[in-house]
Amino acid sequence: MGGLTAALAVHSQGFTPHVFEQSEQIEEVGAGLQIGPNGSHVLRALDVLEPIAARAFRPQAAEMRFGPTGQQIFSFPLGAEIEARHGAPYLHIHRADLQQELVAALEQRAPGALHLGKAITGFDQSASGVSLTLQDGTTVTGDVLIGADGIHSKIRTGLFGAAKPRFTGNTAWRAIVPVDRVRKNLIPPNATVWAGPHGHVVTYYLRGGELINIVGVREARDWQNESWTTPGSKQELLKDFAPWCADIQELLHAVENDTCFKWALHDRDPMKNWSKGRVSLLGDACHPTLPFLAQGAVMAIEDAYVLARCLAQSPDAPQQALQSYQSARMKRTAKVQLGSRANSRFFHKSNLFSQGLTYGPVWLAGKVAPGFIASQLDWLYGEDVTRKGP
Ligand SMILES: Cc1cc2nc3c(=O)[nH]c(=O)nc-3n(C[C@H](O)[C@H](O)[C@H](O)COP(=O)(O)OP(=O)(O)OC[C@H]3O[C@@H](n4cnc5c(N)ncnc54)[C@H](O)[C@@H]3O)c2cc1C
Repeated sequence: MGGLTAALAVHSQGFTPHVFEQSEQIEEVGAGLQIGPNGSHVLRALDVLEPIAARAFRPQAAEMRFGPTGQQIFSFPLGAEIEARHGAPYLHIHRADLQQELVAALEQRAPGALHLGKAITGFDQSASGVSLTLQDGTTVTGDVLIGADGIHSKIRTGLFGAAKPRFTGNTAWRAIVPVDRVRKNLIPPNATVWAGPHGHVVTYYLRGGELINIVGVREARDWQNESWTTPGSKQELLKDFAPWCADIQELLHAVENDTCFKWALHDRDPMKNWSKGRVSLLGDACHPTLPFLAQGAVMAIEDAYVLARCLAQSPDAPQQALQSYQSARMKRTAKVQLGSRANSRFFHKSNLFSQGLTYGPVWLAGKVAPGFIASQLDWLYGEDVTRKGP
């Protein structure tokens, strides 16, 4: 997401992008993605929002429920209301659909910019340029290198040395269920967190309501395989969420065998510097973000826009442009990283005492001052990087 969006953004500023992707084919995993209004602003500025929104689902509300009973703890409106509040829609999109639209736009605007099956093995830089070494032995040169290569970024290692990400003690399940496999209206048309002891489930619709996306997070110390494509057993999925309410049981029973996947969630601490000379990082490569605020990809999308603007402001001084870019992005992305980390503690309350102490006041706040909870996220969703300098 980050690399493709950055290519579109720098192209829109008059530069010539080249994206080197290790995969032979563009093939996103079967999973959903939430895009807050702050991400939609960027997609609109890059003129790709319309086709993306046409393939998405617009949730009516964001809500938190107590998983074991299904009782609602709080809710705030999304849909038309959040669009009016922040000037851009909140979308739920299949990752493959988003990726296809970004690739289509890039191929149309900058044909040949996307190079598949090109794994990067290293790079070198001088005062006048950067050279990139690919696994096939070839070398390519350019003015600036942006590592948008995810949490295990080779470019990050090349800049700052190797350092392993931290296992967070959480594993995540993902599955997609066609809506016709479950009872009508089983799942609310919302972004719903079903919080519970030592875990939570997130549900939302994709593709205009044809599919239900499920993410299930469970605390575990003993399993650290970090792959998006490791199959898990349905029996194990059911066991992990056995204490959850009847609606979640019904949904999980509808998952087809061999279509649920499990992986370990890792993260890193915020960085104090992520650029050196003509080389910088973007997205999970510099600020890997847990999914508990649903903003990791959106941060990469925001990065892309700000990066392109900084390069356009100092086209003859890329080192300075990359420093401006990182200064503009560091505080916000660190806040999102740490906020996402904190949310796992908020979602996973293990006993009645901590559940009452945490969720009781939030429930009350939602009843007494319904606008209060939505306002707590204005700093996140209300940001429009396309209107703000640098
Ligand atoms: C369960 C879950 C749910 C999530 N939900 C949301 C959500 O709702 N909203 C949201 O905004 N975020 C969400 N996220 C976070 C989001 O998925 C990531 O933050 C996002 O994918 C980061 O994008 P990226 O482009 O920086 O990195 P990546 O998506 O990791 O992409 C990196 C790319 O670099 C390529 N690459 C790696 N190494 C090399 C190399 N050596 N040479 C060439 N290519 C290479 C990879 O093949 C890959 O294509 C979620 C994450 C998880 C785990």
